[in-house]
Amino acid sequence: TIRLVPEPSEPKLLPTPNADSLPRRMADFATFGDALDYAAQGERGFNFHDPRGTLTRAYPYSDLRQDSLRVAHALIARGMVPGDRLALIAETGPDFAALFCGAVYAGVWPVPLPLPTSFGGKENYIEQLSVQLASSDPKLLVGPDEIAEMTASAATRQGCEHATWSDFAHTDAPAVELPQLKTDDICYLQYSSGSTRFPHGVAVTHSQLLANLSAHSHAMELEEQDRCISWLPWYHDMGLVGCFLSLIANQVSGDYLKTEDFARRPLAWLDLITRNQGTTVSYSPTFGYDICARRISSQTAIDRFDLSRWRLAGNGADMIRPDVMQSFVNAFAAFGFEASAFLPSYGLAEATLAVTVMPPGEGIRVELVEEERLSGSPRDLSRPARYRAIVNCGKPVKDMEVVIRGETGQTLGDHQIGKVWCRGTSVMHSYFRDPEATAACLVDGWLDTGDMGYMAKGYLFIVGRAKDMIIINGKNHWPQDIEWAVEQLPGFNHGDIAAFSIEMENGEETPAVLVHCRVSDPAKRLELREQIRDKVRAITGMNCVIELVPPKSLPRTSSGKLSRAKAKKLYLSGEIAPFQLAA
Ligand code: ATP
Ligand code: MG
Repeated sequence: TIRLVPEPSEPKLLPTPNADSLPRRMADFATFGDALDYAAQGERGFNFHDPRGTLTRAYPYSDLRQDSLRVAHALIARGMVPGDRLALIAETGPDFAALFCGAVYAGVWPVPLPLPTSFGGKENYIEQLSVQLASSDPKLLVGPDEIAEMTASAATRQGCEHATWSDFAHTDAPAVELPQLKTDDICYLQYSSGSTRFPHGVAVTHSQLLANLSAHSHAMELEEQDRCISWLPWYHDMGLVGCFLSLIANQVSGDYLKTEDFARRPLAWLDLITRNQGTTVSYSPTFGYDICARRISSQTAIDRFDLSRWRLAGNGADMIRPDVMQSFVNAFAAFGFEASAFLPSYGLAEATLAVTVMPPGEGIRVELVEEERLSGSPRDLSRPARYRAIVNCGKPVKDMEVVIRGETGQTLGDHQIGKVWCRGTSVMHSYFRDPEATAACLVDGWLDTGDMGYMAKGYLFIVGRAKDMIIINGKNHWPQDIEWAVEQLPGFNHGDIAAFSIEMENGEETPAVLVHCRVSDPAKRLELREQIRDKVRAITGMNCVIELVPPKSLPRTSSGKLSRAKAKKLYLSGEIAPFQLAA
């Protein structure tokens, strides 16, 4: 048996400062440091687990506060002053938590940056890191000892100081007075995922953070006995805000698996949920549910999982796939999973995190919309109508407004598809040092999210990313309509296909479809390509470039999303090399 903090049988919520309802409590905090000071008076905290289910570290918020103060003193002793940036690279764990919170106490802005992934190799990682260091201009980068060579190399390129966590653990700086921070001071920088362009750094203030945390926990109807269980990386907004900062501010406990451990043993996530005696709140993009549904087999013992106390199974960060969520239900209903636990949510780094959340208990609701209406193209009467199930992503959270605007900026009515704009207390004031990019998406306090969708009776439905839309001869196509259709062919998984448009030699645009191919026989490959061509023609009504590419060659962002923009770039530069097929 494992020991959790606190003992799971008797969860105890801290007394509230004003004995008010849970989300209101956050109104008492002016800065995130206040929230940690308060949480540290209780006995809750983080628990880190290995994939075999052993609790590797229990880390109460009181310990986190002590360590964070030590970090703050060490940063000040190094000459860092409020407003300096600290680039922070660490696995989910005490190091990340203490570095992040320590910087916040010192008024230094932490900038969480991704760890290396298996995609792209060492040079690519150093390159991406260097660009992020150039745009955030930190005074110091602190990274894990294991990748010190890479982080030092990127730091040297950008002329920023470099340290590893063990350098830090051994500094014993004198305790000094911490700066007095204000609620509108910047708390940290959060990079967007980089799905449609290179990641952009959003400057998040204490008040924006606390407003979004309050609104999100209110929308989730967070309860006393809830625990958060997560494998999401903390350098991405959904992991950082939703599964790290939120727990401290709400004084709930959390259980974590490292992201790489989840990637290796996905079902360890569900084992962790099974062992939680209280109710579970746990978020994942669609791909996390997909992997689990594929891993389970008829050999899995029927008593391995008990998912009946999984109160909220959050889904967001990318398109929600109703078919995938249905296969998750099919696979796990026998283990007590309730489909009504699904909690569709929509958000983005520029809004701190949450924009809309479905009311708990509603599960996934879809509307069937004709594909032609989704792409704004006239109906082709020669072909049968095709529909896509559009997921209801819920209602705007507290203090958030959402409107849909048409091409000329006019506000559209229910069921009219256009650009999704939002405004509210947690919407950013600017990207860090990027007035041009800021002006491109912020108009009179309203944020252009870059997403297309529609509203119906106060609920938001997301259709896709505007930048990913394929426009050919004035006709629009959504890449996911193509990708999801090809995926229906046998042997394909979620994420095996990327569709975008390319310019041909004659100057015309055409859709290109890259497909992971696991078939080695040349004749079978040719056959497969023809099958794919037929599928794509049925949707687009045109001939497209179909390329079979080696498995795992389609690029994902550090948060695991498919990046079509990057796939296109790599394809055009020859870095993704398709298999050569006979004509
Ligand atoms: P970048 O802005 O750098 O290109 P990104 O937009 O993916 O990358 P994030 O801010 O991490 O970076 O992600 C927010 C985006 O994720 C949203 O703008 C939207 O495109 C997508 N998203 C989030 N939630 C949902 C959802 N429920 N349904 C569909 N898409 C979603
Ligand atoms: Mg974005």
